[in-house]
Amino acid sequence: MLGTAPTTPVHRSQTADVIVIGGGLAGLAAAHHLTGAGLDVLVVEASPAVGGRMATTRLDGYRLDHGGQLLCPDWPELSNLPALGALALRPFAPGAVLRGAERSVRVSGHRTLRPGRGVAPARGRSRTLTGALDAARLRHQLSRLAGTPVERLAARSELPAGRALAARGVPSRTVDGMLRPLVGALLGDPDLSSSSRVVDLALRGFARRGLCLPAGGSASVPELLAGALPEGTVRTGVRAVSVSVNAVDTAAHGRLRCRAVLIATGAAEAAVLLPGLRVPEYHPVTVLHHAADAAPPNPDGPLTSLIIDSERRGPVAHSMVASAVDPSRALPGRTLVTSVVLGRRAHDSLACLDRAARPQLSALHGVDAGHWELLEGFREPHAVPAMPAPHDARRPVRVLAGLYVCGDHRDTGTAQGALYSARRAAGAVCRDFGVSGAPAAALRLVA
Ligand SMILES: Cc1cc2nc3c(=O)[nH]c(=O)nc-3n(C[C@H](O)[C@H](O)[C@H](O)COP(=O)(O)OP(=O)(O)OC[C@H]3O[C@@H](n4cnc5c(N)ncnc54)[C@H](O)[C@@H]3O)c2cc1C
Repeated sequence: MLGTAPTTPVHRSQTADVIVIGGGLAGLAAAHHLTGAGLDVLVVEASPAVGGRMATTRLDGYRLDHGGQLLCPDWPELSNLPALGALALRPFAPGAVLRGAERSVRVSGHRTLRPGRGVAPARGRSRTLTGALDAARLRHQLSRLAGTPVERLAARSELPAGRALAARGVPSRTVDGMLRPLVGALLGDPDLSSSSRVVDLALRGFARRGLCLPAGGSASVPELLAGALPEGTVRTGVRAVSVSVNAVDTAAHGRLRCRAVLIATGAAEAAVLLPGLRVPEYHPVTVLHHAADAAPPNPDGPLTSLIIDSERRGPVAHSMVASAVDPSRALPGRTLVTSVVLGRRAHDSLACLDRAARPQLSALHGVDAGHWELLEGFREPHAVPAMPAPHDARRPVRVLAGLYVCGDHRDTGTAQGALYSARRAAGAVCRDFGVSGAPAAALRLVA
């Protein structure tokens, strides 16, 4: 696994100004803000490596993400954290390809409606024209969204996204054939159950800057954060079992003393340490990694396209030639195809998903995927926090003076949300400590 934390020398003192529990994105980002403000910080991480849900396994020269995370270059926290200055983002071809059995369109905020070369023609002329009109309308809507100030989006009334789109007069065929699969890829929510505000913000980011993969795999993000912290800040293999405002009890490393505790675990673990804390529902995600014989030809666009199945013809929601987007994910001459399963099917066994996915992957990539080798699959039932309406993307991060909480469950269920919640929580700690240099919290909402 990537993301091995710098190990702490045994002589490191068992006290710190702030103990951060959890070495995922939120905990590591918070540690940066706090050390940047001059505080002495200790991050305790239960696993042998940092990164939490942003994990990557190395296998025979492949880098296999557990989450297949898609990032949006529009997210402010990716550029606002100096420690992430060295993060290379590998962009997909603009927008995404929505591929159905008979027709394929590329959607983005700037260009869309590009009928795919080599894709079987639509059955009837009227259906082709309807599809073309729908795609043109969607392009227009995405372009408008890209130019809409966030404050205007945030002021809209908030409904379940599916209902909001219907209320805005978006035809159900556009919702089902285009927006539902696109929002599935953006938020792990193929049912459009998320808050319309969160969906608007996610679509806005997609329309403005598209999507990308972090070079080297998802784990490279926490790995960069951990590597840029002062030596000895992170201790892996240390599980917190209870907290108070000035101490953390651990499973096997005794009591660690401090002036404040910041809980940066996932929601369920946070609720064990802080009984009564709200635990959201989660969207499950399963990721399949296949080694292809050769780079699939991609019938209608660059090999670096994100390909979304607009008709849900099998378990895979979206798929990508990950080694084309980010060449570091496979040795030269090898091809890694990464596919993501969302919704109920994400609970199926890997063997069952692999079997069912082959014909679908053949159709999506325009080659026979029957001979591809399944390298690995990762199932995560608690992948992405659900964000039903009304969604509070600024949940309190200060429990009381000395006790704080951050993570994607306090903000939006994305890497941006995890990072931003860390900024807010570190700011609250600094204010309570009366320390100057607290990280500035922007007002801008992003999903
Ligand atoms: C399969 C999958 C797909 C995803 N897809 C996307 C995507 O496309 N785009 C996107 O933006 N986001 C995506 N996400 C969500 C994104 O990965 C998370 O929002 C983000 O990683 C959350 O970071 P975090 O620090 O809040 O929590 P976590 O990553 O869960 O970190 C919490 C850490 O706390 C540690 N911990 C827990 N309990 C204890 C304890 N008692 N003591 C010490 N340590 C403890 C854990 O081991 C873990 O390392 C996906 C997630 C998954 C799993």
